[in-house]
Amino acid sequence: MIKIADIHVSTVLLPFRFAFKHSLASRSHSTNVIVRVTLENTLSGATVFGLGESVPREYVTGETCESAVDEIKGNFAGTLVGRSFADERKPTDSACRLLEQTASAMNVYGRRIGASFCALELALLDAAARLEKTSICNWLAEKNTRTACDFINYGGVIPFGKPNALTALLYFYRLYGYKTVKLKVGDDPELDIFTVRKARELLGNSTVIRVDANCAWDFDQTVEFSKRVKAFNVASIEQPVPYDHLDELVELTKSVQPEIVVDESLCTVEEAENLARMKACGGFNIRISKVGGLIAAQKIVDIALKHGIKIHLGAQVGESGILTAAGRALGCANPPFENYEGAQNFFLLKEDLTKENMTHGLGGKGKMPQGHGLGATVNESNLSRLMVKLKAANAQPGSAAIEAKGRGLHV
Ligand SMILES: [Mg+2]
Repeated sequence: MIKIADIHVSTVLLPFRFAFKHSLASRSHSTNVIVRVTLENTLSGATVFGLGESVPREYVTGETCESAVDEIKGNFAGTLVGRSFADERKPTDSACRLLEQTASAMNVYGRRIGASFCALELALLDAAARLEKTSICNWLAEKNTRTACDFINYGGVIPFGKPNALTALLYFYRLYGYKTVKLKVGDDPELDIFTVRKARELLGNSTVIRVDANCAWDFDQTVEFSKRVKAFNVASIEQPVPYDHLDELVELTKSVQPEIVVDESLCTVEEAENLARMKACGGFNIRISKVGGLIAAQKIVDIALKHGIKIHLGAQVGESGILTAAGRALGCANPPFENYEGAQNFFLLKEDLTKENMTHGLGGKGKMPQGHGLGATVNESNLSRLMVKLKAANAQPGSAAIEAKGRGLHV
């Protein structure tokens, strides 16, 4: 019999090489939740473990690292520890069913608690797939009746910065060969127009340019922006208005030329269904951590495909190689997304948690994860050194740099 023998929750602090700033926050490090699930064969006593990660952000889902750890320890772990798999020949399918039952019983797909569930979900799937000696990517592709593709091409993201830094980054991105670049906007109207104009000038006409306002605008400001950037061919405007302004999103989707992509408005499977039903957007930004893990993310992809909504793979700033591997698996196991974000691990993180370098290569090329489970092997030495107690994390030098702005505290 295969049973869930142990669930261990910890937190890590990952320092950045530079501060990353957008309309809702600025940060110089990320505190992430790590879950280790141990499976045991009760006959042989053999064990296998899997790792999962999430990046709780209060201004996205309302969760903090503290609330996520409490939720996992207080609710999810107690329900799952000691449970055994119904079908030992297909442990990944068994783990998936168990996770879906738990999610359903606790309304995970209807509440904004994705970052609490995600780390646990990824860890259990990782362990089960390792036991089965298969990769999550191939398992997911098979469920989708597809053959996983060999690689995906990520786009670049440009945070707020001074004009000189913007110019330097745009030159670098052009040299690196990104086909898509997303600009963070919403700080100042004139600066936003300058940023878009500069990007088009330096990247040329063949690069897709998108913008992300992170809830910074109202309806009129969004319309005004879309008029002013018409000549620069902006493909999409992500989350222009606050997350709960759904009627405005519906009107904007009808009336502005760039595609309206939702991000902060899309944190659960139920929200995806509602947004699709309301025709409140043309695209979903799907970040595995905020929506509750890979199973939830796949459900949201399926909703999008059914309703003709474009899919964008998003990422939380500060994801380690574990979440990067999960995102890569989702991307490679599905039809092409409009855009893939993330996998800038080496450029952003001073140290990573995986032995494999999950950073994409030139042109944003990220290869399908090799190996079993998520395809990432934990660097135990880095993991134990970067592990922190939450109070210690909050007292770290630089933590004052994490400041959610007032308008972002909306959950
Ligand atoms: Mg966004």
